[in-house]
Amino acid sequence: MPGPYVVPVHGDETLPDACDVVVIGGGIVGCSTALELAERGLKVVLCEKGGI
Ligand SMILES: Cc1cc2nc3c(=O)[nH]c(=O)nc-3n(C[C@H](O)[C@H](O)[C@H](O)COP(=O)(O)OP(=O)(O)OC[C@H]3O[C@@H](n4cnc5c(N)ncnc54)[C@H](O)[C@@H]3O)c2cc1C
Repeated sequence: MPGPYVVPVHGDETLPDACDVVVIGGGIVGCSTALELAERGLKVVLCEKGGI
């Protein structure tokens, strides 16, 4: 049985001038936290050292 298809995520080359929250780490916890906060209207920066 094949594994899940991974959708590559390409980050922004530049950082925004300002944000409400910085989330470090784009694992399941970081991504779901960033998504939840963004859906609540906060401006979120998600920093991942590897692949998301
Ligand atoms: C081999 C293996 C198999 C697994 N199989 C399963 C499974 O079948 N089912 C299951 O439910 N769970 C499984 N798990 C467990 C699951 O992967 C973890 O519980 C889950 O990924 C933890 O999520 P997390 O977001 O807390 O951490 P992580 O997924 O570890 O995410 C943390 C992220 O932070 C990034 N990071 C760390 N430091 C920095 C930094 N200084 N700057 C920027 N980014 C940084 C890392 O690159 C990483 O992407 C498995 C784990 C392993 C190792």
